[in-house]
Amino acid sequence: MRRVSVFGATGSIGQNTIDLIARAPDAYRVVALTGGQNIAQLASDARRLNAEIAVTADVDRLDDLRDALAGSGVEAAAGAAALAEAACRPADWVMSAIVGAAGLVPGLKALEQGATLALANKETLVAAGPLALRTAQANGGTIIPVDSEHSAVFQALTGEDRRAVERVTLTASGGAFRDWPMQKLRSATPEEAATHPTWDMGQRITIDSASMFNKALEVIEAKELFHLAADQIEVLIHPESCVHALVGFTDGAIMAHLGVHDMRHAIGYALHWPERRDLPVDRLDLAALGRLTFRAPEADRYPALGLAYRVIARGGLAGAAFNAAKERALDAFIARRIGFMDMAEVVARVLDRLDAAPVPIDAPFELDNIVAIDHLARCEADRVMAQRQQ
Ligand code: NAD
Ligand code: MG
Repeated sequence: MRRVSVFGATGSIGQNTIDLIARAPDAYRVVALTGGQNIAQLASDARRLNAEIAVTADVDRLDDLRDALAGSGVEAAAGAAALAEAACRPADWVMSAIVGAAGLVPGLKALEQGATLALANKETLVAAGPLALRTAQANGGTIIPVDSEHSAVFQALTGEDRRAVERVTLTASGGAFRDWPMQKLRSATPEEAATHPTWDMGQRITIDSASMFNKALEVIEAKELFHLAADQIEVLIHPESCVHALVGFTDGAIMAHLGVHDMRHAIGYALHWPERRDLPVDRLDLAALGRLTFRAPEADRYPALGLAYRVIARGGLAGAAFNAAKERALDAFIARRIGFMDMAEVVARVLDRLDAAPVPIDAPFELDNIVAIDHLARCEADRVMAQRQQ
């Protein structure tokens, strides 16, 4: 039996992961499941899958979790330290599906144990790519990407000579506002931004898809995972969301990965890797679809995308600063304190200011330095937003 843990089990990726695990109960022993506020979901999955431990991120909800697990034999715990402890428990396969920088430490701990880390939490690679890869290598851990585009690239590269890769194309749906007039974007609301044209995902990544901050994170994620230069990574808007990514080789060939938009494909691929097994996803009907379209994203509509290339050019810990500032700006947009198009402006200002900050972006890739830059970028984002309101 394979020992598996799911971090962020109550979320969109987490629930899709549990769907696959629950279909083969004899194949898996569930070690840890973690969640946030949705105690009922966390407890019911932990009971159903007979998990060893369930952890809520919120220390104030520990009593609720204990009550919900009473008599089940499942351990209950809460808080960031408990999440890290749960990630240190031996597991063969760990799903990293917490949203945001909070997913970083559990993922690193799992890699320190030599686990196979199914990485949905792209923030880990954006904020700490070299540290995550180093940790995996030093401890016999393996990172398998779960982001659909990166899973697609990973699959297209299997068996290929990496030196023959010329470029990687990540596709983007274009998000909720891809066809809105530009002048309307400034007044777009969080509710409008949280409806995705094709994928069904958590609220934060859905809004990040509308702003293309999600694709910006993915450009940096691709750079880290596949060791690419900035000019080897291209983004195309592909409204049908069937081609998840393409890899172009030096002989002119392009390998494309196609499929329906169901995250259980990428999750299942990571779960069964290096094998390819049957998965309960719909099959793509290309004749019914008729045609696939692609276009280049407009720079003024998606300023976040340009920031990704700026972050890659800057190097060092700029990715950690970028992600943290983005998380703060997104919080403020969700709370209606800033507008939709303000998010990229705030993040750009934070990057400007951090180059002159006392905590250097050029510090070594160590967890303490990443945490410090993350904290500083959040403070700077708050300062930038406070100044705007004056
Ligand atoms: P979600 O919001 O649906 O779920 C997030 C999970 O993280 C929940 O279990 C929540 O309780 C937990 N969580 C939230 N804040 C936390 C904190 N501070 N500490 C600990 N746990 C916390 O998000 P999602 O859509 O499932 O996305 C999860 C991750 O996967 C993100 O990094 C996202 O970018 C990535 N991803 C998601 C999709 C998708 O289809 N949903 C696709 C590609 C990548
Ligand atoms: Mg993606």
